[in-house]
Amino acid sequence: MPKVVSSEPTETEYRKRPARGASLFVSETSLEHMIDHADRGFGDGVEIMGLMMGTVYRDDLGYYAMVMDAVTSELDSDEVSVRFGRNSFEELFKNIDKVGGKVVGWYHSHPGFGCYLSDTDIRTHKGIFGNDPGFAIVIDPSDATIKAFTVENEEQKDAVMVIMDAV
Ligand SMILES: [Zn+2]
Repeated sequence: MPKVVSSEPTETEYRKRPARGASLFVSETSLEHMIDHADRGFGDGVEIMGLMMGTVYRDDLGYYAMVMDAVTSELDSDEVSVRFGRNSFEELFKNIDKVGGKVVGWYHSHPGFGCYLSDTDIRTHKGIFGNDPGFAIVIDPSDATIKAFTVENEEQKDAVMVIMDAV
């Protein structure tokens, strides 16, 4: 998967986070999109994935992200793996442009095997974000569990997620 985050250093705005202790603030509608997507995949017996669009901010506690939308494109997936389809990047970038904002994270599903980042997921995460701050959401649609992570030193680190009403 090609790096989808611009390597241009962008200025991260300093702004105090809305809730101490949380680092991922997700709009209700974008979370609904991700959960609906995971549920549809579960119905088809496959994993799904997509990108979270929004803004990264920083404050005295470090980086955090606001997610306003989720985008995806045609996927190449089965019951234990998923990636963007070989020919789907044009569609993906078009959807990214349509929504606007920055790619601040990615989401994918683990139908029936729990929420964590596998070694492959950590490689995917590094592939997308490099050393930029990035977030990962994993959804297990079999029992409706959701977890958020960041990656530090090649390892998953729990991130506290807060769901926001429409703003
Ligand atoms: Zn995974």
